[in-house]
Amino acid sequence: MSKNNHTLAILKPDCYRKKLIGKVIDKIIEAGFKIQKMKMVHLTKDEAENFYEVHKNKDFYPELIKFMTSGPAFPMILEKDNAIETFRELIGSTDPNEADEGTIRKLYADNVRQNIVHGSDTETNAKREIKFFFDSEID
Ligand code: ATP
Ligand code: MG
Repeated sequence: MSKNNHTLAILKPDCYRKKLIGKVIDKIIEAGFKIQKMKMVHLTKDEAENFYEVHKNKDFYPELIKFMTSGPAFPMILEKDNAIETFRELIGSTDPNEADEGTIRKLYADNVRQNIVHGSDTETNAKREIKFFFDSEID
């Protein structure tokens, strides 16, 4: 299997609360991604802290943990050529005010914290995050 064909996405608790799960999945499929695995989770504080460990010294960390544990989330493994970069383009900038037109965050996100969706940012992180949720080793 060639490299960088997979990324880890999460539909965040705001996506569920706003009843946007179906719409966001449509966008992902229309953009040519194949959903290889998907599940529903309700992250515990420990799990959210571990997942977002890289941000533990940021001011927004406590808010981020509170948000990510506030309801159901849907992690999924997505498959496509150049998946990591292509998916980051599809979701848009972290802050929806700065996101390009047509991106998922521009269309659906309320603000920089409640921004609907996560996408892995590097190959190393994609591998770690896929293992975190699915205990699978994928290139
Ligand atoms: P993600 O990792 O969720 O895909 P990202 O890579 O675009 O998002 P990061 O810098 O990794 O952005 O931030 C992780 C998450 O922390 C963001 O998606 C958002 O939910 C939250 N966050 C980031 N910056 C802020 C901020 N300034 N204020 C509040 N929350 C923030
Ligand atoms: Mg990130």
